Amino acid sequence: MENETKTAPVTGAAGPSAPGAGMHHLFEPAPSGRSKCRGCGRLIALGELRFGERLPNPFGGGEMTLWFHPACAAYKRPEPFLQALVETSQEVPEREGLERAARGSLAHRRLPRIDGAERAPSGQAKCRSCRQRIERGSWRIRLAFYEEGRFSPGGSVHLDCRRAYFETGDIRDQVLHFSPALGGEERDELQRAFDTGGSGEAPPAEG
Ligand SMILES: [Zn+2]
Ligand SMILES: [Zn+2]
Repeated sequence: MENETKTAPVTGAAGPSAPGAGMHHLFEPAPSGRSKCRGCGRLIALGELRFGERLPNPFGGGEMTLWFHPACAAYKRPEPFLQALVETSQEVPEREGLERAARGSLAHRRLPRIDGAERAPSGQAKCRSCRQRIERGSWRIRLAFYEEGRFSPGGSVHLDCRRAYFETGDIRDQVLHFSPALGGEERDELQRAFDTGGSGEAPPAEG
């Protein structure tokens, strides 16, 4: 390490530094019910603990904050999440489980892309893993790619291709977490599809 200026206080305005250096991610109770979670797209309730990822504002000077539900951040932004977990003085409910989720997501580089599961609404899309078409009505896992503060949809993979693509089969909790739109029955079907390793049968195409 060479001459680091230890005398100057480290603040956001301290001058140029490597991206992300000196950023202090945070946990805080949401002061309103209007912030939207970047991980799942849903609102964060008033008073609910939220995670803030601080990053340089790409549209000008200063910093910006991306807000997340803690669980959404643990899965999708494990690195800053774990950093904040170490630094925070806030009490974080279910801390151990969140830390486990974040470490799991960090262990395989593609896991943070998991954006939930659904039955393919058409037979048009191709699997990013095996490059075959995803049959209409079969389960697929949506992917979202993070870049510079944004998540962009990036296709999907067959549920059955999960091991090949994510290099681990241990993704059920994460997939279910990002599938809040699924009804109870669909969730059960998805659970079963995970258990059997099958893709689940396509519902009969009527009409
Ligand atoms: Zn969320
Ligand atoms: Zn596939």
